[in-house]
Amino acid sequence: MSETLHQRAQQLFAQSLVEGLSRADQAWLDAHLRDCSACAGEIASTRELLRALTAVPVSVPSDLAARTQMRVRLRLQESAQTSAGSALLWIITAASWLLGVLSAPLVWRGFAWVGAQLNLPKPLLESVFVFWWVVPALIAVAAVIHQRAMSNGDGARGNRV
Ligand SMILES: [Zn+2]
Repeated sequence: MSETLHQRAQQLFAQSLVEGLSRADQAWLDAHLRDCSACAGEIASTRELLRALTAVPVSVPSDLAARTQMRVRLRLQESAQTSAGSALLWIITAASWLLGVLSAPLVWRGFAWVGAQLNLPKPLLESVFVFWWVVPALIAVAAVIHQRAMSNGDGARGNRV
């Protein structure tokens, strides 16, 4: 068999991978591969290599991409949780102050009523009332300050590394 026939067989095989072959070319290639073990062997090993190439890079980068995406998502979730946590604390603080201010007259009336019933001295009632009103807000503010100090400490550690 002449060298050009083998070249034509290889060329047709390459063409079949890219754009497909006409029925006549496919028939010619099949006939040549039946008769020519050299071309058949070469094409078989090329097919094997292509299978391996398409099997490996597809599975590895997609896995890698998924893992990277997950890591990014976790990181985003982490920072979202941190800011959501401090936002929540600020909301609690604000709500506690607002609730304290809004409910103060009502609560004071309740204290006054209890004081009148139990015949308690007014200064004692007043200090208990102020205590009741201020302490939850102070606790909330302390929690916010603590949280900010904690996250600032984390940030400083992260920057050093
Ligand atoms: Zn051949």
